[in-house]
Amino acid sequence: MNLVLVGPPGAGKGTQGEILSKRLGVDTISTGVMLRTAIKEQTEIGKNVEKIINAGNLVPDDVMVELIKERLAKPDCAKGFILDGFPRTTAQAVALTESGVKIDKVLSLEVDDDKIVERLSSRRECRKCGAPYNVISNKPEIEGKCDKCGGDLIQRADDNPETIQNRLNVYHEQTEPIKAYYEKKGILVTAQGEEKLEDTTSNVAKALGLEV
Ligand code: ADP
Ligand code: ZN
Repeated sequence: MNLVLVGPPGAGKGTQGEILSKRLGVDTISTGVMLRTAIKEQTEIGKNVEKIINAGNLVPDDVMVELIKERLAKPDCAKGFILDGFPRTTAQAVALTESGVKIDKVLSLEVDDDKIVERLSSRRECRKCGAPYNVISNKPEIEGKCDKCGGDLIQRADDNPETIQNRLNVYHEQTEPIKAYYEKKGILVTAQGEEKLEDTTSNVAKALGLEV
């Protein structure tokens, strides 16, 4: 299955992506993780995107399309993949279609704006592997440490109040229109993101027609 996850920042795409990845046996490709890795390693792309991301704006479409095409060409994607964070504009969605990549389903994870701000402030992520956590709703076994790799859990530079509001605006203006694009293709499904992780997980399974 080739799946795309859409939803506002903090909707739980990263967390549900991880769960689905295990369940479906395919990799989750997160453009956010890829870009933050590039920043950490100070690659050419990383240097160019750091300011943009920390302000909560979008990286230019051509940069993203190039990055994702390269990633999807890797052999592991042949068995299917989950895209988290791409496409994020209609232009990116069109470019993906035109590159011949077949998308089977697009899952929209719905969460109201007023919930997002509180969620993002309690969000943490592994410095090493990028795995998502939440100090309220998705705690690690050992405080401050990643369950998967033992890395330190940190707060993202773009999870601050000013940037969060801008990211929400950007989401509604630039990303949400891709839902209509995929709805027209008949492949959009939606799931409500709930307070409790397990409830969201079961909504997602239902939406995708998996066993709950
Ligand atoms: P979130 O969904 O929590 O906002 P992500 O980790 O998916 O965060 O992305 C973080 C930032 O990386 C975005 O705010 C944006 O600046 C940049 N980014 C990620 N994916 C894309 C994309 N497809 N197009 C443009 N910018 C992107
Ligand atoms: Zn980790």
